[in-house]
Amino acid sequence: MTQRVCENCAFPDEELALVRRVYVTPETWDTKGSREVVEETELWCVSCRSQYPHELVEDDEEDEG
Ligand SMILES: [Zn+2]
Repeated sequence: MTQRVCENCAFPDEELALVRRVYVTPETWDTKGSREVVEETELWCVSCRSQYPHELVEDDEEDEG
């Protein structure tokens, strides 16, 4: 069994969760803020999930690995 690592920081973690990264653009004087969700999913550790914006992906397909 291979140990899985976080796809964001490469830290090995047992509690990785499938997420979609969210790019948040802060509002500026001439631009409205925006929020873009990336289509591709990544496995993130608890630490990354507490630090970076993301959306949790429902994990109901298990044909990988
Ligand atoms: Zn991480």
